[in-house]
Amino acid sequence: MATAVPRIAELSAPAAWRTVDFISDIHLQASEPATFAAWHAYMSGTSADAVFILGDLFDVWVGDDAVDGDPSGFDASCAQVLQKTGERLALYVMHGNRDFLAGPALMARCRGTLLDDPTLLDFAGQRWLLSHGDALCLDDVDYMRFRGEVRSAAWQQAFLGKPLAERQAIAQGLRRQSRAQHEKRRLSGETYIDVNAGAARQWLQAAGAATLIHGHTHQPAVHQLGDGLQRVVLSDWDAAATPPRLEVLRLAATGLQRLPLG
Ligand code: MN
Repeated sequence: MATAVPRIAELSAPAAWRTVDFISDIHLQASEPATFAAWHAYMSGTSADAVFILGDLFDVWVGDDAVDGDPSGFDASCAQVLQKTGERLALYVMHGNRDFLAGPALMARCRGTLLDDPTLLDFAGQRWLLSHGDALCLDDVDYMRFRGEVRSAAWQQAFLGKPLAERQAIAQGLRRQSRAQHEKRRLSGETYIDVNAGAARQWLQAAGAATLIHGHTHQPAVHQLGDGLQRVVLSDWDAAATPPRLEVLRLAATGLQRLPLG
């Protein structure tokens, strides 16, 4: 499937930055306290000058008013960790397919900056293309249709206009649907739908970058795309898995390094 290359935002790292951390797909949720604790410990302790969260920090985000409005207090706890982190380092947040409604109120609260998807990061003379990755999964036709709908201003305006409890109920319904769909695919022996390699190459060429860093697929790996182009896939986080999946991708002038935590 052919697609237009989106507008590519650019960000120049300040010269003072020595290390930058990339994480994604933490899928924070109240029912996974160990993952929250690991993320909290990481955010409080990282020595990086900047943390880039490349989507799906939250398993679901139904609007910034959930921070004060959610009786469970879980979203407020997450916002507090972000706020503490934003006070001591540069914090960048990209939307994933679960938390694309994280908005300006949350960013203001945690002194974070919302990143466009994709964004080109210029760091230490090298160019790195950053994306969540879902927009590149072109072969998942149903998802791309759904994505087009929920990312429209009209859908978001209508959704955010509903009461918080109703939005939470809708989000739960969507999660159930998504789980059922994954289970159906798993049982039928279908593998997950990956990033479209041709589209990834197009984006990289348009950005003048050799490496795409993305999450979303939960399949950490490095894929060579030909002509010296590559994509580096971030790990998702699950502290309850055996072995636990808790990993940061760290960028320094010397290059990229995967750092297992815990
Ligand atoms: Mn995702």
